[in-house]
Formats: sequence, structure tokens, C-alpha cells
Amino acid sequence: MENANGENDGALGNARAFISKAASIAGRDPSEVTLVAVSKMREPAEIVPLLEQGQRVFGENRVQEAAAKWPQLKAAYSGVELHLIGQLQSNKAEDAATLFDCIHSVDRLSLIKALGKAFGKAGRNPPCFLQVNIGEEEQKGGCAIDDIDALLASAETHGVNIVGLMCLPPADVEPAPYFALLGELAHRAGLSQLSMGMSADYESAVQLGATHIRIGTALFGPRK
Ligand SMILES: *Cc1c(COP(=O)(O)O)cnc(C)c1O
Repeated sequence: MENANGENDGALGNARAFISKAASIAGRDPSEVTLVAVSKMREPAEIVPLLEQGQRVFGENRVQEAAAKWPQLKAAYSGVELHLIGQLQSNKAEDAATLFDCIHSVDRLSLIKALGKAFGKAGRNPPCFLQVNIGEEEQKGGCAIDDIDALLASAETHGVNIVGLMCLPPADVEPAPYFALLGELAHRAGLSQLSMGMSADYESAVQLGATHIRIGTALFGPRK
């Protein structure tokens, strides 16, 4: 059966099967891997088929877009978990704190301070990831590798619950060494969670310890 995108409804099943296979190759339990379905730029009509198939964890990269789409979907389907995977401006921290159940893109002190305040006000303390600029690319979000320890200490001070590290490796090069490096950095920092791997490379990420993979295109088809 085809969904509104012309994609096969089996895409979710296929992704889950690939995750299981990659996990077993690495001797991991597939249940350790959370599939975050990246629904940015997708209409509710494209998202509903995944909800109907039981998918409950979704990723969005813009606060405003998520605020427009998700309250209704959340009301219609119980147990939805919404993850913010895109850059967050500090002045949107309050909106993000009420809307999202996990934030993958914490990457600087000003944002940590704003989120700490916003979570306090909202009476929430959701798990967050520290985003690392793993390829040390000028145009990319994420903190410098050398700043990880200081930012983790600040997060603790400001009551932001960092549970792991997140990265977007450089495009068009083999991502595995970057995934391995993120794993090593998390291990050194005593963090157990790793948000890494997208449509093109999630099997490699799972083999290298990803606990959260963020998949859009492979589930919904190409973005317009
Ligand atoms: C868009 C996006 C993804 C999903 O990318 P696909 O290639 O469509 O799977 C994952 N992570 C982040 C941070 C994104 O912005």
C-alpha cells in the first residue's frame, strides 16, 4: 500500500528490520535503539500513517512548525514523544520546554541557561543531548569537542538533564569514524546515550552504539 507520499507503508517495518539486523551484528539488543521519525516539513496527513502503525517518537527541527502541527496529533494519539533535533534560539526556550519531550541540540552556555530557566518555569526536566560539532566544521551547529566537559558542568549547575551526546557528521565522507569518536567522547564523559545516524547511515550508527537514530527520508521519501 502506498501512503500520501507514494512511499510504501512498509518503510517503517523495513527500517525496524534494518535496525534489528545492525544491532544483532554488534551484539546489541535492538530495544536499546529508539527510532526518531523525523517529520519536519511533513503534513499531518503524511504523519498519521506512521502513528497508525504504532510509531510514537517523532523529531522536528523547528519550534514554530512543531507547535503548529503537533498539539492536535498529540491529542489524537496517546503516548507521543516529540524530540527537537534542530538548532534552538534561546528566545524560543520557553516554547520548546513545554512542547518537546527531549532536546537533541543543546550546544552552548546561553542556551543551557535559558533552558534551565524554562524547564523550571514549566515544571519539567526532560532528557537532553549535548550536540557536538564532531567534524569541527565552521558552518555546523554543536559545541567544540574541547568544550564538552565545561558545558556538562554548566548543565548540571542550571538543572538541564544531559543524558548523552548528539552529532551530525560531515557530509559525503565515511561517517563511521565520527560515530566511533562520539561514542568514545560520551564514554569518557560518563554518558550512556548517543543520538547519531540518519537515513543514509543509521545502520553504521547502530553498530557503533547509537541509542537514538533520526530518520526522515527513509520513512517519508525525499523532502520537497
Ligand atoms: C533532517 C534531519 C534528520 C533526518 O535526515 P534524513 O536524511 O531525512 O533521514 C536527522 N537529523 C537532523 C538533525 C535533521 O535535521
